[in-house]
Amino acid sequence: MVEAPRNAPFKAMTEPLRSTSVSSTTAPSPPPGFVEKTPLERYLPPAKPSLVGLSRAQLTEALATVGVAAAQRKMRVQQIWHWLYVRGVRDFAEMTSVSKELRAALAAQFTLARPEVVAEQISADGTRKWLLRLADGHSGERPHEIECVYIPEADRGTLCLSSQVGCTLTCPFCHTGTQRLVRNLTPGEIVGQIMVARDRLDDWLGAGRPAGEPAGAQRMRQGGQRLVSNIVMMGMGEPLYNFDAVREALLIAADGEGIAISKRRITLSTSGVVPNIARAGAEIGCMLAVSLHAVRDELRNELVPLNRKYPINQLLDACRKYPGLSNARRITFEYVMLKDVNDSLTEAKALVKLLAGIPAKINLIPFNPWPDTKYECSDWEQIERFSEIIFNAGYASPVRTPRGRDILAACGQLKSASEKLSARERLALRAMAMTD
Ligand code: SAH
Ligand code: SF4
Repeated sequence: MVEAPRNAPFKAMTEPLRSTSVSSTTAPSPPPGFVEKTPLERYLPPAKPSLVGLSRAQLTEALATVGVAAAQRKMRVQQIWHWLYVRGVRDFAEMTSVSKELRAALAAQFTLARPEVVAEQISADGTRKWLLRLADGHSGERPHEIECVYIPEADRGTLCLSSQVGCTLTCPFCHTGTQRLVRNLTPGEIVGQIMVARDRLDDWLGAGRPAGEPAGAQRMRQGGQRLVSNIVMMGMGEPLYNFDAVREALLIAADGEGIAISKRRITLSTSGVVPNIARAGAEIGCMLAVSLHAVRDELRNELVPLNRKYPINQLLDACRKYPGLSNARRITFEYVMLKDVNDSLTEAKALVKLLAGIPAKINLIPFNPWPDTKYECSDWEQIERFSEIIFNAGYASPVRTPRGRDILAACGQLKSASEKLSARERLALRAMAMTD
């Protein structure tokens, strides 16, 4: 179990939570009953910023500020990009193809810092969870923390990334939604999660092979594949409410001269921020997962309150228009199985009808219970019956396999220690981390 640090009073936690309709998207006034939390927290850049997460253009500017001549900047950016994202160096001194003077000049103004690993837990099945502390300028206050989960499988290794500290939305079955603290992550903090995972897994080019590594990991390395081969934006937060930072981070992750994870291996999960779905398709080009969870607006209004703003028909229209869809490139529809709430066979049939014509995969997610939740996971037999209807309609309907149970890592309900500290009465219960 992750132990939270116990010092430093945490101002935001003592303030009453303000509810408001303010959001990062465009609707002029909120629909009735739709409530979002305000992102009370602000990012304060540290005194010495990290180069991690800067775009090539920003890196070029950074080089200009330390006096690199215009004619040399492109070449230097290429070099630094390689050291950062292919070799994963953590110290400017390791950038041996860069002149000593430039390394010193860079080190005087910048760092290569990623989020600090506060705790690492490794499950018997190889799933790893990291509690990460963010390096912003919150001096004297409690630092922000996020979680990140790595799920190894025979043919891939999936990293589940957070996009926000907490979430402004309030889906009642989601533990993250109960977290009061909310702040958008910066591109560097999102890319930084990948850097940390590659650091901890020895997954940089030219890295050694740790003794006692599980067979799957060895196979992947021997096949020339990196351990972190896939990314899902399914950790804490709503990625489409932090669009610009998520876009910048995912474009860095997909850059073929750096981290080089193909866009087909990057999946962004959204609860349905309709205007930004088209933008995700046009500006990021990654795979899309949609947290549907209900087939009727009345129920979805309750389970995914954002539905009051963007109802099911608008959401599915946006899905139909998502670029590049084909049988090989499908949208994943996530459906959490909640006992006696959304798990009837009538709903299974309605789900199939609703998705007709959309190249779709359907992921049934057994509900991960957490303390004080009013929901229960559907019975296993019911999940099987539900899944059979979907299967008979021609969809592969994998039920996501629970992973990392023993370290209580739950993708989709991650909640960092910041909150646990202020709510000691809540036992930290993390059921599982999942991948499709
Ligand atoms: N905010 C985004 C991405 C993060 S949540 C979204 O909602 O899509 C990732 C997935 O986990 C979502 O499908 C979410 O609905 C689901 N989830 C959240 N809490 C869960 C729980 N307690 N049990 C099972 N799935 C959950
Ligand atoms: Fe936020 Fe997603 Fe949880 Fe809803 S399910 S509260 S959108 S993280």
